[in-house]
Amino acid sequence: MFIADSHCDTLSGMRHGRKLDDLMINRDKMLSGGLCMQTFALFTGSKGVHGTAYQDGIDTLAQREKLGIPIFNASLPETAPEYPCGVISIEGGEALEGKLERLYEFYSIAGIRMIALTWNFENEIASPAKLGDKPGLKPFGFSLLKEMDKLKIYADVSHLNEAGFWDVYNNMELPPIASHSNNKELCNVPRNLDRAQIKAIIERKGYIGINFYTAFLTDKPSSTFEDVYRHIDSIMELGGEDVLGFGSDFDGIDVWPEGLYDASCYPRLIEYLLSRGYDERIVEKLAGLNLWQLLKKADLARCYQ
Ligand SMILES: [Zn+2]
Repeated sequence: MFIADSHCDTLSGMRHGRKLDDLMINRDKMLSGGLCMQTFALFTGSKGVHGTAYQDGIDTLAQREKLGIPIFNASLPETAPEYPCGVISIEGGEALEGKLERLYEFYSIAGIRMIALTWNFENEIASPAKLGDKPGLKPFGFSLLKEMDKLKIYADVSHLNEAGFWDVYNNMELPPIASHSNNKELCNVPRNLDRAQIKAIIERKGYIGINFYTAFLTDKPSSTFEDVYRHIDSIMELGGEDVLGFGSDFDGIDVWPEGLYDASCYPRLIEYLLSRGYDERIVEKLAGLNLWQLLKKADLARCYQ
């Protein structure tokens, strides 16, 4: 089964000195868990516009050499790969420093597929959910969406506030995606999506990657596979069969569901989902095919330089 994941902080962990063996995602763990394709984020949002976000992105990208797996910089393979590989995203639009040139630069050196417009701070593009529902996108944000549409780079609305979400929905041709967010109705935290947002993503055929962070799954201190299933199933009930996937947030979380502690655990999660009555065709979609199709759809239309 092709298994894929839309968000992790592994490269950032490596940049901050964590050993490859100690990380939740590395080549060996991908192999043993059957995780074929991982989206590796360049995390650049830690200080908002007051840090060195662009340089952080460049330095984090340099870590990819040490992963020992192919990272698809330009086009993706014809068919979904069966070996550990990766693609790159940006988490924290401050990496662009308010300049469209930076977008083109990251596109050409890293083939970025998605950009989380904000992390938890306001930046040149927008404001995060953590700071409230408003305001919406800034002027640079709107020009950025146009360029992202041209290059076929998805706007990742995980972390973005509500007004920003609807600005993306109303102003972008590409559908909104949430690489690592859950259902707010089951766990009421700003980082999760409300019913209207989930329905909007489904309607536009975007993507929602289920986050394994316990605090986004439940208000209890611990979580299980059951909690992951509940979030998946609630979105399935809204018609989310074609937009669901995994957005583990591995290497960026410190509390996870029991038995789901790193990339080697995917077979157990797959087995659990099958045991809950989903047929194999559905599980294949949410295990990776939905994310693959989303990336492939954009990839075929990309204008590689
Ligand atoms: Zn995040």
